[in-house]
Amino acid sequence: MRYYDAHNHLQDDRFAGRQTELLAACEQAGVARMVVNGACESDWPQVLALAQENKLVLPSFGYHPWYLQERTPDWLANLGKCLDEIPSAVGEIGLDRWKPDLPYAGQEEAFLAQLRLAAGRNLPASIHCLQAWGRLHELLRDHPRPACGFVLHSFGGPGEMIPAFAQLGAYFSFPGYFLHERKLRQRETFRQVPPDRLLIETDAPDQLLPEDENLFPLAGKDGKPLNHPANLVAVYAGLAEFLGEKDESLAARVEENFQRVFGTIIPPQSSPL
Ligand SMILES: [Zn+2]
Repeated sequence: MRYYDAHNHLQDDRFAGRQTELLAACEQAGVARMVVNGACESDWPQVLALAQENKLVLPSFGYHPWYLQERTPDWLANLGKCLDEIPSAVGEIGLDRWKPDLPYAGQEEAFLAQLRLAAGRNLPASIHCLQAWGRLHELLRDHPRPACGFVLHSFGGPGEMIPAFAQLGAYFSFPGYFLHERKLRQRETFRQVPPDRLLIETDAPDQLLPEDENLFPLAGKDGKPLNHPANLVAVYAGLAEFLGEKDESLAARVEENFQRVFGTIIPPQSSPL
């Protein structure tokens, strides 16, 4: 089976230079592609370098709402330059009203500027949203969106909003973190996702799986546990079991969905794998 990680952060410093080793483990486990999301200007060059070194990596560039205060005056032009450099997606971008002490002012403006870039170039956008689902829907509804679609990563919004988001072109991505017993509501929500809009992700190094499903235990230099991107196979297995679907059937439709939304940025010479 071929596995597709719709969202991770392989460039993260917590991986402490072990990216080559992690990628080798992913390849061995059957990971065919991963979308590696930049989160701020300072990590975009690392995302670009990973994509240039390894065909598994689909790069994505964007300003995550948590890091907006780090923006330089040229941030939007710099983002455009990254997108010019290599076939890439836009993200991680988004809205966050959950994180304590994070200012909300300015988030919508930054989100819309990046959404506009994605729409203008028809690049898939990876969107983070915490406690701002109604507003996110309004903004997406009222502004140009990429024709190829966009990804609501780690979708934890209300199930009732799934049809409205789907109508605007949303894909819904399931993280291993939702396999924890206490995340039943979020898991149940995924039963309502249209079959052709489901994606799967690790969000590595974050969103650890429950311990008994963590196939690739990993720790950072400080000893804190990290989510290994090869755990993607365990996320697929956990979701297939929850949905009562055969592993092969789930993998086949997620592959089709991934190719549909990210197909515009997959270099033609390397597809099919
Ligand atoms: Zn993320």
